[in-house]
Amino acid sequence: MEKPIVFVTEVGSCYRPYHYKVRGLERHPSHYYSARGKVTHRALEMALLGKEPSWDYRLFFPEGTPGVHGDDLGLPPEMFEKCLGEARAAYGKGRRWFSDTSLIKQGEKIWVEEEFKKDMGDFILCGHPDLMTKTAIFDFKSGKKRVTDDHRWQLTGYEILTGRKETYLVFLGEEKAIEVEVPKSDRDAILNTYIREAQKAADWKRRAASGEIPPAQVGFGCVWCPYVGRYCQGV
Ligand code: SF4
Repeated sequence: MEKPIVFVTEVGSCYRPYHYKVRGLERHPSHYYSARGKVTHRALEMALLGKEPSWDYRLFFPEGTPGVHGDDLGLPPEMFEKCLGEARAAYGKGRRWFSDTSLIKQGEKIWVEEEFKKDMGDFILCGHPDLMTKTAIFDFKSGKKRVTDDHRWQLTGYEILTGRKETYLVFLGEEKAIEVEVPKSDRDAILNTYIREAQKAADWKRRAASGEIPPAQVGFGCVWCPYVGRYCQGV
């Protein structure tokens, strides 16, 4: 069997969805917050690449953009319009932040939503940091300024993947964008814990492929789980 691919954003989450995916079960349409996050990140990606988004349902997510084109979002048009309104505001703030920040020099090489893969032995770790320079990783958040353990966890994954040790969050839910450095007090311990958890995710991917059912891990993520209610009641 090929090495499983584990995405940075999957590590530490509930692994039961691997089982539903293997069975090819139908997913609920995206939760509004999840759709808004995708739309906002796509707008920011364009902002950082110096492009003006079309702000149109189909043109915004052309066919073939993995996981984010309009049909995949499964949103009614009026809800998509609401997402776009919020994404527009984030786009403007992100663009201003990018031209004003002292953390990135003018003309410096940047990577925007680039896919990185790292062979971790018996699995591949994969992820798309929002923005990266030679030394730093930046992760955009559409909400208010609030650094959580989940944010630190995700940045740890990107650090392992890219080797960049400076990690920042950029919050776009305030009046203007706010950048926050997220240092690690015990880097080696956190990195090792992350790698162990990523290994667990890879093991469950293999086991789910051969018919085993991962335990349900009830938590905040159930709110936007595409299988909640219809297939999973949390047990
Ligand atoms: S509803 Fe919750 S517990 Fe069930 S699969 Fe989804 S995330 Fe896991």
